[in-house]
Amino acid sequence: MAQPNSKSTTPYLLDMDGLAALISALRRQGRQIVGPRLADDAVIYDDIETAADLPAGWGSEQAGGHYRLKRRDDNAVFGYGLAPQGWKRQLYPPRQKLFAARRQAGGFTVEPPPPPAPPLALIGVRACELAAIARQAKVFGDRAFADPGYQTRLSSAFIVAVQCAEAQATCFCASMGTGPEVTAGFDIKLTEVFVQKHHGFVAEAGSAQGAKLLKALKAPAAGPAEIKAAGVAVKNAARQNKHLDAEAARNLVAHPDHPRWDKVAERCLSCGNCTMVCPTCFCTTVEDVTDLKGDNAERWRKWDSCFTMDFSYIHGGAVRTETRSRYRQWITHKLSTWVDQFGEQGCVGCGRCVTWCPVGIDITEEAAAITGQERI
Ligand code: SF4
Ligand code: SF4
Repeated sequence: MAQPNSKSTTPYLLDMDGLAALISALRRQGRQIVGPRLADDAVIYDDIETAADLPAGWGSEQAGGHYRLKRRDDNAVFGYGLAPQGWKRQLYPPRQKLFAARRQAGGFTVEPPPPPAPPLALIGVRACELAAIARQAKVFGDRAFADPGYQTRLSSAFIVAVQCAEAQATCFCASMGTGPEVTAGFDIKLTEVFVQKHHGFVAEAGSAQGAKLLKALKAPAAGPAEIKAAGVAVKNAARQNKHLDAEAARNLVAHPDHPRWDKVAERCLSCGNCTMVCPTCFCTTVEDVTDLKGDNAERWRKWDSCFTMDFSYIHGGAVRTETRSRYRQWITHKLSTWVDQFGEQGCVGCGRCVTWCPVGIDITEEAAAITGQERI
């Protein structure tokens, strides 16, 4: 993760060749490069080889329960909105083997841990996603029970952030104070601009290693027109139709018997999609697996969801047996009790839970209805 730069540097202007050179330089450092690419009718974050893998000319249309790829009328490579899942998959993998033990002549032997994975380079991290990474870093690092794996992956990662130039209908980072401007937590920050049909990226360093890498690319300085276009792009992205009154939402937990919980439960399928796509959700379960002979045993940590019945199972039965109580648990934790635990809310306004809820349940609408902020 970026160590903040002590002094601000002049923005550079990269063209597509410059961006390709940046990715190649990160690859030469031995990093696993992860960035946006097209797959399964969506833009996802996955391993990429070169800048040619980026989704040039593709955008997306997102709304409650709706995601469609759509062609852009330009060649933007970062113009796709947000991918279905954030960088949680890379920094906090869905399945992790905690240990394995094999029966030997003298008893069980624990397998040595696998060699460390190559450090990551994350290409295209948005402001709300940086905020989500910071929230998970707090969960996994700043507490009594740190997760060394998460901390290592994050501290060794090189982060290329990208400022949004437009908002999706599901975005509300502006009201959560997490975007769209990228302000911290990056090594290099890019803003994609088109000035007189010239396609480029205003590039700024956010860390000493980011500054060193940008300097080595020998790119020209960005001119006033490109810097102005970058500022306009971020202002455009800040125009968001969706809002969440974060202060009012902190009071959600004070309404345990609100009739809206029953109303939302009539629609909610308890599918857990919202928790899987949420970049801050961190709950896990632990599963022990053995073979039939009992010679091999493994312990796995896997993502879990507060929407499953098993999640609240304590000996004798589940605590949250109804959908209303599971939805209430999820949203009150995100917006209310997370503040008690971590000093800030667990929602960064990315809108993924709205887009990927199959029935279009909208966290901003539910919070507003329950706290009496509903707009007529
Ligand atoms: S609760 Fe929804 S909008 Fe908030 S961070 Fe999670 S997925 Fe994004
Ligand atoms: S709110 Fe939507 S995404 Fe979440 S569990 Fe219910 S139906 Fe699934």
